[in-house]
Amino acid sequence: MIGNRAKTIDILNKYDYRAKKKFGQNFLVEPNIIKKIVEEITEDSIIIEIGAGLGAITQAVATKAKQVIAYEIDSDLVRILNENLNDYENIKIVQEDFLKIDLDGLLSSYNCKVTIVSNLPYYITTELLTKVLSVSDKIDKVIAMMQKEVADRFTKNEKGKDYNVLQVMAQYYCDVKSLTKVSKNNFIPIPKVDSEILIFEIKEDYKKVKDEKLLFDIVKACFSQRRKIILSNLNKSGFTINPQQLLDIGVDPTLRVEQLELEDYIKIYGVIV
Ligand code: SAM
Repeated sequence: MIGNRAKTIDILNKYDYRAKKKFGQNFLVEPNIIKKIVEEITEDSIIIEIGAGLGAITQAVATKAKQVIAYEIDSDLVRILNENLNDYENIKIVQEDFLKIDLDGLLSSYNCKVTIVSNLPYYITTELLTKVLSVSDKIDKVIAMMQKEVADRFTKNEKGKDYNVLQVMAQYYCDVKSLTKVSKNNFIPIPKVDSEILIFEIKEDYKKVKDEKLLFDIVKACFSQRRKIILSNLNKSGFTINPQQLLDIGVDPTLRVEQLELEDYIKIYGVIV
């Protein structure tokens, strides 16, 4: 199997390949962690993997899942993946920047929900998860490795200086739990920070509003100027709402975004829609 230290070093040497910083490449080399990911999928799963790397997770999930579509941006790695995973008929490697694909269109071609698996390049964690959660109606869960500090924001719902729209999205669509913490020593090369794998399980009954785009436009508006009160943020973003309308639904118009809960956004949506 690819996902261990000796085999990874073998492949890197064989292809004279060096991890590229610009693509956030840190290869997972701990079989026990990979095993935990595999335990989270089923024989019926259709997996979309984002950032296949040398194929450590790709190969392992393919031994159980029905089908794996693995996206990798780096053409050098795609060549290596195609050579090493050639024997797996249920793996399809796609060389593409995942951020640019039409995910909704892709997922519409499956008549079942898919599972997203990713050891994310950390610098695009927020953008990637936002893209994935925007098609929550077509996925069943997201298994994602991320920087431990970023994972804390989801599991502890911290509303510190990095509090963002994605946290509200995750709360709306998912039940989030930690699968395991992952020490930085489990990667080649060793990154600067420790990681954690989170499971974002899409709630069956998440749908609380008809127009989710409008709901999250309202959330974005409230986040637009963190220091300003929500009333002025909403009005500046083009939502005509007056203080009394907010008071009538039990939301204080002078609150700042970190004082709002998901239920408050849903109430504001009810006034605006
Ligand atoms: N999954 C492998 C593993 O666990 O060992 C590799 C993980 S590495 C942290 C992230 C991978 O994502 C790299 O192989 C990188 O080239 C790829 N990647 C980075 N940006 C990408 C993008 N926009 N679309 C697809 N793949 C990307």
